[in-house]
Amino acid sequence: MIILKSSEEIEKMRRAGRLVAEVLDAVLAMADVGVTTLQLDVVAEKMIRAAGAVPAFKGYQPEFVKCGPFPATLCTSVNSEVVHGIPSERPLSDGDLLSVDTGVELDGYFGDAAVSVVIGTAAPEVQKLLDVTKHALEAGIVVCRSGNRLGDVSQAVQAVAEAEGFNVVRRFVGHGIGTRMHEDPPIPNYGVRGTGPVLKPGMVFALEPMVNMGTHEVSASADCWPVNTKDGRLSAHFEHTIAVTEDGPDVLTVIDGRGVELEKPGRLG
Ligand code: MG
Repeated sequence: MIILKSSEEIEKMRRAGRLVAEVLDAVLAMADVGVTTLQLDVVAEKMIRAAGAVPAFKGYQPEFVKCGPFPATLCTSVNSEVVHGIPSERPLSDGDLLSVDTGVELDGYFGDAAVSVVIGTAAPEVQKLLDVTKHALEAGIVVCRSGNRLGDVSQAVQAVAEAEGFNVVRRFVGHGIGTRMHEDPPIPNYGVRGTGPVLKPGMVFALEPMVNMGTHEVSASADCWPVNTKDGRLSAHFEHTIAVTEDGPDVLTVIDGRGVELEKPGRLG
């Protein structure tokens, strides 16, 4: 069941989302050659707790995971790691593709977002993977409008990624979010227009394309942390928490005054 949120609840989620955006902003400003992902994690946890919030990933134990709860505040997924990378003592190297995903619970409501960057110098093909994944997320966001269907969102994401020769991960999906981090509906990054639930004001989604340079398949050990691409090639991940409102998509995981640039008005033709 998709739980609709009131405008008061959406404002609470905006506060959680803003904190997530601030944490990601701080962490990315630090991420550089020689820095460890564990150092990033320490900063993120301090920021979240100082704001009176709780790191939502730390201690999280989904049913499908067989290797214990997630041990950190950030998921830091490097290179062929798709998602759920565990912060480590390994210093980041020039050219590493780093995806950072984090979630917080603030005043009973959750925010969830992710961003990918290249450390130091980006090879053109890697930069393209990042740009296309971000664009795929934005293409999904613009169709998060009342009256559209969830399949419209999924298809919009998939179309952007595949048009550039990349592949969307199918094993892991986005999700509804609210007083729990993962609510209905599951939101695949592939799908068919005109299918799935009709979107209504008050729905809030964590939309999160994971885009692979090679095969969409992930390694067989995906029921443990981290998830790797099956072919060892690179993967990028971008995520925002978005409310469907009467006025269109409202991206909640942003810092005040720094909206997400959306290319199209979002009405399906
Ligand atoms: Mg998520």
